[in-house]
Amino acid sequence: MRTVIQGGTVMDVIEGAALRANVILEGGKITAVGDEQPQEGDQVVDAQGCYVAPGFIDSHVHIFSHGLFQTTRLPADRIGVRQGVAALLDTGSAGALTIDAFPEYVHATQRTPSYALINIGSPGLPGLGGGHASRPELCSLSATVKAIERHPDWILGVKVLASASHTGAFGLEATKLARKAAELTGRPLMVHVGNAPPVIDDVLELMRPGDIITHTYHGKVGGVLTHGDEILPAFRDAVDRGVVVDLGHGRSSFCFRTCERALELGMPVHSISSDLHRGSLDFPAVSLARTMTKMRLIGMSLMDTVKAVTINPAHALGLDAKGFGSLAEGSPAHVTLFREREGPLELEDAERDKRTAERWIEPIKVWIAGEPFEVDAPL
Ligand SMILES: [Zn+2]
Repeated sequence: MRTVIQGGTVMDVIEGAALRANVILEGGKITAVGDEQPQEGDQVVDAQGCYVAPGFIDSHVHIFSHGLFQTTRLPADRIGVRQGVAALLDTGSAGALTIDAFPEYVHATQRTPSYALINIGSPGLPGLGGGHASRPELCSLSATVKAIERHPDWILGVKVLASASHTGAFGLEATKLARKAAELTGRPLMVHVGNAPPVIDDVLELMRPGDIITHTYHGKVGGVLTHGDEILPAFRDAVDRGVVVDLGHGRSSFCFRTCERALELGMPVHSISSDLHRGSLDFPAVSLARTMTKMRLIGMSLMDTVKAVTINPAHALGLDAKGFGSLAEGSPAHVTLFREREGPLELEDAERDKRTAERWIEPIKVWIAGEPFEVDAPL
């Protein structure tokens, strides 16, 4: 049966244009975007007053639970299809010792398409506090590369937490190992920045075009702004040479003021991500939609906000080759239907800075390869 999403405003993220059109889904694919009208027998979804976008991608979450470990991870569907998100990237919850269980714990039990970055720390994030990659014997280059070679379809890159909270004094060496694993497998490296050591300048120097910096606009000491509130030269250089800027809200890693200042000085947010896990779900991240709303509030256009959860992360992670990120005719029918609701909605960043949004993004429905899911989790 055909589905016709009728009368919505279609977000063409490739052309950067919003246009009134019908979107037709059939056989799990997008078969037309245009003025074709419903026929008898079609299922019609009234999208008037709503936006039709490529399925949203959350490029930084934690959804891998390993039976052996106490865990801070969430079930993928709770923050995936139930919040209108079509694809999730688990960023480093699993390492070489644990990632073979990812299909059993995630793919077999959840409906949201889910991918992973492998942690250079072999245990992954076992939910027992920091230290998972704090010593050489916990980081194996060969085991990491071999794990990617075993699961090339869903391990999209490598993750390192270059922060004293997670890697102790070993962060810079762990980052070098992770970069090498990325190089040997032709995949991007995602670097978590946070508390020093290592200092951010040294970390940024190791990053190559296509690598991803996450938690970029946190409010901790030693981030991307200088003492004089200007852009750190090493960060500007990294952006100029093609390092991808990811938001990674999380529990303690997004600060309105840092982000606003960086945007004011011309710095980008390429991908908006929530870093949802048990410790950030109730407060302050809550959902990808709410994180998007925060970016709208500090001045990102709706088109740029939607690009930052569709084509940009799809391109950075190679998910465009798997049919994510656009509404191109013939591609898999991964579609998010959403609207902008009138506020007010009170928002808080990780520093407990409160702002009031006059409008907020509300996903209504998501299709995964043509199969519909209603949004029923808190946003
Ligand atoms: Zn994270």
